[in-house]
Amino acid sequence: MITQTTPGQSSTGIQTHCAGGLNQAAASEAPAPMASALLPQIFPGQRTRGVQTNPAGGSNQQAVARTHSVPTDTTSLPAQTSGDDHRVIDNQDAYVVPGPILQSPILGLAAEVVDDLERVRKANVERLRSLTSIADGGFGLTAEHPDVARLAALVDYLGGAEEVAVKSLQKVMRAHPLGAWCKATAGIGEKQLARLLAVIGDPYWNPPKRRPRTVSELWAYCGLHVVHFEGKCDGQYAAGAGVAPAHRKGVQGDWNDRARMRCWLIATQIVKTPTSPYRSVYDEARAKYADMLHVHPCARCGPKGEPAQPGTPISAGHQHARAVRFVAKRVLRDLWRESARLHEQPRA
Ligand SMILES: [Zn+2]
Repeated sequence: MITQTTPGQSSTGIQTHCAGGLNQAAASEAPAPMASALLPQIFPGQRTRGVQTNPAGGSNQQAVARTHSVPTDTTSLPAQTSGDDHRVIDNQDAYVVPGPILQSPILGLAAEVVDDLERVRKANVERLRSLTSIADGGFGLTAEHPDVARLAALVDYLGGAEEVAVKSLQKVMRAHPLGAWCKATAGIGEKQLARLLAVIGDPYWNPPKRRPRTVSELWAYCGLHVVHFEGKCDGQYAAGAGVAPAHRKGVQGDWNDRARMRCWLIATQIVKTPTSPYRSVYDEARAKYADMLHVHPCARCGPKGEPAQPGTPISAGHQHARAVRFVAKRVLRDLWRESARLHEQPRA
């Protein structure tokens, strides 16, 4: 019933690349299928069960009888994590879940159109820059030069096409079940959320495991998890300590880089949006990290080739990055909660 596709995904495998290896907390989730998986929104065969709703970290809601349409890969709800931490909350009643109902092939397609046009526009902006630049081997031509003028006109044309595609994507996002949440959340734009959803699929569904995903799995898929090195690992990290995952030469990461980039862009936009409910989350995180010291050697804060040593203060840039990451996790958690709520809504 579910076609697994992996369009444009960067990494799915797990590597144990050092003594002890990485603790991969459910990070092996494969990419979400996108446009090519034409999943029906309503599956045949209805079944009514008593459902114990338990959005992670949220208040326990009353168990209510709900009607779920049942796909072939029905399964019972696994233990959920509680949101900010990783405590496990056991669900008392297993219930039938309806599959990746929040995955929209149309949204995936619309996002791909934006991706394509954006890529072409950016490439030609770069060519235009090389025509006019006098540095870096540029041609140093003036804006009046006919070749420059022609390419500039083409870039404008491409920009217009991209604008049309973005409007189309925004329209699809507004009609998506998560559109209302997007609209109600200042600082999260339709275009940005749509592009994230195009990568992650249904935030509440783990396609390879054919069951709802936990919020920790969603974080891990987006590269926002923490990895623990159980053994000494090439001198870069202390044994047993948790760190944000980073790409390392010759080692393929097990998260989705595009998802991580989308999360990062959403969170950085939030920082620029004073009216966003997540702006205070950022401010609080910055305050929390202000006096923090490095636990691990940090290449970001040290001069090139000389990582800042454990015990040294975290730089302002590093504090910002940590706070943005914290915001991204909070946004994903809330997106996951809203998706869980939508999953538990009765359907016709
Ligand atoms: Zn640092």
